[in-house]
Amino acid sequence: MEIPLRSYLDDILDDVRPHDDGAVADYIPELAAADPEPLAVALCTSAGRVYSAGGPHADDEREFTIQSISKPFAYAVALQEVGVEKVLSTVGMEPSGEAFNELSLDGGTHRPVNPMINAGAIAVNQLINGEDSSVAARVEVLLDYFSRLAGRELRIDERVTGSELATADRNLALAHMLRSYGVIGDSAQDAVTGYVRQCSILVTVKDLAVIGATLALGGRQPVTGEQVLDPRVCRQVQAVMASAGMYDGAGKWMAGVGIPAKSGVAGGLMGTLPGQLGIATFSPRLDASGNSVRGTEIFRRMSEDMGLHLMSAVPARGSAVRSIRQRGLGTVIRLQGGLGFAGAEDFLATVAGHELKTNRVVVDMRRVTDVDGFGRAMVLEGLRRIREDGHRIGVIDPDGLLGDRTMDDGTSVETSDEEV
Ligand code: GLU
Repeated sequence: MEIPLRSYLDDILDDVRPHDDGAVADYIPELAAADPEPLAVALCTSAGRVYSAGGPHADDEREFTIQSISKPFAYAVALQEVGVEKVLSTVGMEPSGEAFNELSLDGGTHRPVNPMINAGAIAVNQLINGEDSSVAARVEVLLDYFSRLAGRELRIDERVTGSELATADRNLALAHMLRSYGVIGDSAQDAVTGYVRQCSILVTVKDLAVIGATLALGGRQPVTGEQVLDPRVCRQVQAVMASAGMYDGAGKWMAGVGIPAKSGVAGGLMGTLPGQLGIATFSPRLDASGNSVRGTEIFRRMSEDMGLHLMSAVPARGSAVRSIRQRGLGTVIRLQGGLGFAGAEDFLATVAGHELKTNRVVVDMRRVTDVDGFGRAMVLEGLRRIREDGHRIGVIDPDGLLGDRTMDDGTSVETSDEEV
């Protein structure tokens, strides 16, 4: 069977290909000379399956510089390596509503307002590998992390680095400003060199989709299975990306597309759908906010067609309680699906509203697909209360979803026979 997703992605590319609005970034000579035509899209699922399309020239295999899409990942590395407290004392997390390279710091603290604008990204780069690190060692740590996130060895485009460094007056001005307030310790030249090298790492849309999926999945790289980042780090990065990832277009993006995302001036765009997917596009012509025109259109369509808007989550259909059946001397409560807050609440409310007529009550977990800490605690608490009401309780849980089944009072639930 052929998976229809691939032809869907091909069709989207064909639809947006005629759009030629916008222009390639021209403030970095090497990018100004870039071919504006490439067009590619990729998706990576939680199971690590990657779907991509790149038209007749296989643009999904084509490398481009990551540019600002490196910002959320470098932020993640800093959070992972030096901890939230240190990172937050260096850079804030409020949207700036300004252009990416605005010469701005928070009026009171003199910290950059967030890590997605250049001032913040230069400061974050400085946090990597300690204050005394050389530029080369700092970049090495980043390159190593980015490679583990992508699941292949990435490299730096030296020509783009050189070209950007030769015209880096604005970023140098930012670095001087940061240094004058003691936010960074390196010379402005070194700080900008580290940051520009980070921006010159080469990736494909497939790499970005996989890295995005890793963030979306709490730091576990879905292809290699490696736990690269902590879940809390990923949560923080995506939250900041959602409010500040798309520069001064962030509000409109969140309302229209609803996927936390980050764009780069080379034409890349990467989005994360928490718990589900990483998505990436590549098309170099940019709009006035610096976001890829065709990339934005692809995201908009996929969000609409595939129901990916974060805020349009529909209520989970069906109940967590599949059935409550009395069998001889016992009652079996069959649970199903995922047990998070909603499922656990459904279980508790349904059982509370049901008169249990037998002495023996068993919860059958065999159709439960997954359970989080809250769901587990609530199922066990529900069982404890059923016991308190005078019943003998048991569970059928061959996959061990309820862990060691210890309840709040320190006792645990025994395994029941499959048939009561
Ligand atoms: N290296 C670029 C700069 O700092 C990245 C900007 C971007 O991608 O938005 O100017």
